[in-house]
Amino acid sequence: MSEKREVVIVGGGFAGLSAGVALADRGFRVTVLERKPALGGRAYSFQDTDTGDFIDNGQHVLMGCYTQTIDFLGRIGSRDKLWVHPNLEIQMLERGGRSGFLRTAAIPGPFHMSAALLRYRLLTPRERWRVVAGAMRMMRMRGRDPRMLEVTTVANLMERLGQGERERQCFWYPIALATLNDDPGIASAGLLAEVIKRAFFGRRRDSAFVYSRVGLSDLYCSAAVEFIEKRGGSVRCHQMVQTLELDTGAAVARLRMRDRSAVEADAYIVAVPAPHLLRMLPEALSRETYFARLAGLGVSPIICIHVWLDREVTDAAFAGFIGTATQWLFNKRRIFVQHGAHHGGYLSFVISGARALVDLPNDELLAIAMKDLRAMMPTAANAKIVKALVIKEKQATMAPDLESHRLRPPTATPIHNLFLAGDWIQTGLPATIESAVLSGYAAASAVAARAGVSRAA
Ligand SMILES: Cc1cc2nc3c(=O)[nH]c(=O)nc-3n(C[C@H](O)[C@H](O)[C@H](O)COP(=O)(O)OP(=O)(O)OC[C@H]3O[C@@H](n4cnc5c(N)ncnc54)[C@H](O)[C@@H]3O)c2cc1C
Repeated sequence: MSEKREVVIVGGGFAGLSAGVALADRGFRVTVLERKPALGGRAYSFQDTDTGDFIDNGQHVLMGCYTQTIDFLGRIGSRDKLWVHPNLEIQMLERGGRSGFLRTAAIPGPFHMSAALLRYRLLTPRERWRVVAGAMRMMRMRGRDPRMLEVTTVANLMERLGQGERERQCFWYPIALATLNDDPGIASAGLLAEVIKRAFFGRRRDSAFVYSRVGLSDLYCSAAVEFIEKRGGSVRCHQMVQTLELDTGAAVARLRMRDRSAVEADAYIVAVPAPHLLRMLPEALSRETYFARLAGLGVSPIICIHVWLDREVTDAAFAGFIGTATQWLFNKRRIFVQHGAHHGGYLSFVISGARALVDLPNDELLAIAMKDLRAMMPTAANAKIVKALVIKEKQATMAPDLESHRLRPPTATPIHNLFLAGDWIQTGLPATIESAVLSGYAAASAVAARAGVSRAA
């Protein structure tokens, strides 16, 4: 390319920044526009003024099978900010002090996962075999009739696979809630099957948890900016895009900003959640079938309750809770390498698919989390709360319901110079960081293919 082609990307979350990095790498001049004062979108962190600790809006867990995300973090030089566990090892707790480990064996995948399930002490030997047989049948169904799984809820699939209450509560539903972020009676089994295939039927390391050792924003935002700027691009915050304006040939001519200024480029990637995109479309476009159907996509909430206690109550980095409203506990003192002024234990509780709880007042949610903690960990019986913070993300992710497969759009739009990215784009994955990065890379490849550029510059 003699003169660099200009691409404007709207949205500075994982999708927008990964698209920007991929295009800057291929020699495009990239401008990322983000409406907020800081980058990160739905995966961000900030420093707490009282404790000095870094707080993520919600604990984010990656898995070894997040190959695109790990590639992105590697490209921008952030891979060493991750804890990458070699194996899956999760302690699942139940009331009354019962616990079991989901721990993969040191044998090649996919046998590592069968071995983990067959040693999972919260289930009886018969229940363990039922889970293994159920997972294998699910994979056969995925191969033979993926469409059938897409229009079946997780709960209905469990029925068909003959999974009893214990198998559901101790294994399937914790995984489904954590990865799909919705009630098993709503979420699509097609997405669960994709997760199970990638996480448990691949290499041993694909099943392991991966998480950031630093606040989420520090993991990828400034490194992505540096990468893009070194290659002649720019990333600008406080830039609210109001409307996409079309020219007479039905291409995007410019972006109209909230301050009425205009931004022009050869191609545009819009990497914002669907409701934000719909607000940006001119009237004529919002009626087009491709765009009109996006209004049917639902959302699902996540609640994260951050609690500082006057003491440490566990050595574990994380644990799953079975049979309580709170589903996961993360011990930030064990996870983060950055610590503020030390206030005993800093714990984060996660409630995914939190439709039924999201409108409760914060003090009730805190009381629920503490009740659940004390039920699971007797060591917390006398611990006192020093500080607490409840973060409700009401639109945390797209609802992974049965309609979502039909409604999620591909990256290319009917407008030849407009492409979409975001975790909710049709990637075949639930709305996760991996889906966001996959969509960002796909949008970058589509822009590059249109411009006749295929390799890195
Ligand atoms: C509490 C919580 C916990 C989660 N846990 C996990 C997890 O454990 N594992 C996992 O993989 N995923 C998890 N997720 C999902 C993950 O955060 C998202 O999938 C991912 O961050 C989505 O990235 P994105 O770039 O697609 O969208 P976003 O992060 O939403 O980025 C879109 C950006 O566009 C900007 N924007 C919107 N409109 C405009 C406009 N008009 N002009 C300019 N900019 C605009 C927004 O401000 C935003 O910064 C979680 C999400 C939440 C909320």
